[in-house]
Amino acid sequence: MGKGVIVGGGIIGLSIARELHKRGYEITVVDKDRIGFGASWVAGGMLAPQAEGLKPGIFFDFCLESRQMYKDFVEELKDDTGINSNYWKCGIFCPAFSEEDAEELINRLTTYKTLGLSGQWLDRRDIEKNYLSLGKDIIGGVLFEEDGQVDNRLLMKALREYALKNFEVIEETRVIKIEEKNGEFFRLYTNNGYVDGDFCVLSAGAWSGKILDIPVFPVKGEMAGVDIEMGEIDKVFFSSRAYIIPRFDYSRLVIGATEERVGFQDGNSIKGVMKLFKGLIDTFPHMKSKNIQEIWFGYRPGTTDLDPILGDYFIKNVYIATGHYRNGILLAPITAKIMADLIDRNEGNKYLDVFSYKRFV
Ligand SMILES: Cc1cc2nc3c(=O)[nH]c(=O)nc-3n(C[C@H](O)[C@H](O)[C@H](O)COP(=O)(O)OP(=O)(O)OC[C@H]3O[C@@H](n4cnc5c(N)ncnc54)[C@H](O)[C@@H]3O)c2cc1C
Repeated sequence: MGKGVIVGGGIIGLSIARELHKRGYEITVVDKDRIGFGASWVAGGMLAPQAEGLKPGIFFDFCLESRQMYKDFVEELKDDTGINSNYWKCGIFCPAFSEEDAEELINRLTTYKTLGLSGQWLDRRDIEKNYLSLGKDIIGGVLFEEDGQVDNRLLMKALREYALKNFEVIEETRVIKIEEKNGEFFRLYTNNGYVDGDFCVLSAGAWSGKILDIPVFPVKGEMAGVDIEMGEIDKVFFSSRAYIIPRFDYSRLVIGATEERVGFQDGNSIKGVMKLFKGLIDTFPHMKSKNIQEIWFGYRPGTTDLDPILGDYFIKNVYIATGHYRNGILLAPITAKIMADLIDRNEGNKYLDVFSYKRFV
């Protein structure tokens, strides 16, 4: 056993740290802010490989496997912390606003069915009876019953709680450099001095490309939350106009998300927020009278080929787990498991082969 230092306390860093801690490792987490409040806090929390329209292939398999692990992941975390993250296999409905949308969705459904996955086409009359209003252009859509959601803010509260109890947590401390000596991890150089350990994991989300020479960059997303009545909308609605997520406890309806490659440009824009609310009202016209609770924004960790970067690095005892882009909440359980297997048992994996940093060298 040894001491692992984790750079970045988002869902990825904290999930890997927790898995390693359970296997007997001593953990230090270093974060430039407070742990748990990066992209993982601002996300929608959808667990949506099918609604996202991912193409069959290894990344899709990776996402499906993680979706399968989610229930156990949140239940174990609840046993550890007492905090329920409201995992909800509510299904995700993808509405078609045009014949073109319908054709794309039906093709996707056919492809997924050949892989043994579920989903069903619903006509407008099948859905409209269940809601107070439904956008006039919606002709039908596809329901993916296996997709769902988690309340990512509750999940981050639980991971934060676990971390504060079980790890050394160093907050408000920015890692400037991962230092090496003779080709091996030596220590972290931060704005507050040095942090030592036997190995290090870089999981600094959209900021990871500032620390190591890897092609990770921010993809900004804006979001909004509005009031919702108990039971008013019982599943996620996901289209190119907006995704609309009722929380399990009906504390809010979350609306997402814009997507822009503008670097780290803080703040909500008028055009961003207008797009979200137009998407909401196009889907549920009666929602225009709801109270706005909050608007917010954050940065997805994108990579040049949009796949994550996972595994070891050319410096011994330095590991990377970043670049989860639009699916980092979904991918936390599987990332934690394969990274811990690699660090703890030197165990390889088909995903680690494909998602290695080496593909960019
Ligand atoms: C608007 C939006 C909606 C999203 N919706 C979904 C969704 O519905 N489903 C889904 O699966 N995914 C979603 N995502 C993607 C998901 O949020 C991310 O992929 C995931 O949170 C990445 O987790 P992370 O731990 O890598 O990064 P983060 O949560 O950003 O954590 C990185 C941490 O590293 C710290 N850090 C950065 N630089 C340094 C440094 N130099 N030194 C020390 N610490 C540092 C940061 O302060 C931060 O705490 C969404 C993202 C956004 C922005």
